Amino acid sequence: MATILALHAHPDDIEILMGGTLALLSKAGGHRIVAVTATAGEGGSAEFGTEETGRVRQAEARRSAQVIGAEYRCLGFPDLGVFNDDPSRRKVTELLRDVRPDVVITASPADYHPDHEAISILARDACFAAPVANYCTGEAAALDAIPALYFTDAIGGRDRNGVKIPRDFAVDVGAAFQFKQAMLAQHESQAAWVARQHGIADHLADMDAWTRRVGRDFGVELAEGFRQYRHTPYPKAPVLQNLLGDAVLTAL
Ligand SMILES: [Zn+2]
Repeated sequence: MATILALHAHPDDIEILMGGTLALLSKAGGHRIVAVTATAGEGGSAEFGTEETGRVRQAEARRSAQVIGAEYRCLGFPDLGVFNDDPSRRKVTELLRDVRPDVVITASPADYHPDHEAISILARDACFAAPVANYCTGEAAALDAIPALYFTDAIGGRDRNGVKIPRDFAVDVGAAFQFKQAMLAQHESQAAWVARQHGIADHLADMDAWTRRVGRDFGVELAEGFRQYRHTPYPKAPVLQNLLGDAVLTAL
């Protein structure tokens, strides 16, 4: 059994960008999934204050994780306040040392939201730091090795200049799509918010359309796209791809 750490910025990002893949790994693969958001997403409401919104959204994220038998944690960074600084890098490194993942899947380093970009960089650098014993972060022991690191698609698959970000591979999530839908459906508070802030009338339909768009690029109905970070000294072995087996798709 492998441990997969899914680390993204806000409650609902994990569901939209990798929910189907996590469902496959958990439901079919029997692997341990730890879903972590950097923030509680407490900015995501026009009706309620930060405390109430953060509490509601963490509860939604916890219910979403339960759909696939995953653990849920929140790092407690402020919404719109995730930064690549010394205390934040130590906090994310301590998370990695505590969870001890074989695979880390995080946000795209280029994305529409500053928190997405910041948590991506923090996750990348925490993977590097976690085995460095003299880098002190807390109680948990240093990792034995750098975990295999992957980035999800950016929201909409493009960087801030509108340039499409290439993928290494995609995962056919057709067999797990019902779980992806059920996970995102737990985020009831976001229906009104994304309509107001993003002009998206139906966030479930929007996720459906996005997953189908990725699928079209790979000749299947429903898919999620990924890139593996292979820079030295990160693992180059296809750890996640091997866990997913036949569900892995290469570009047409
Ligand atoms: Zn987000």
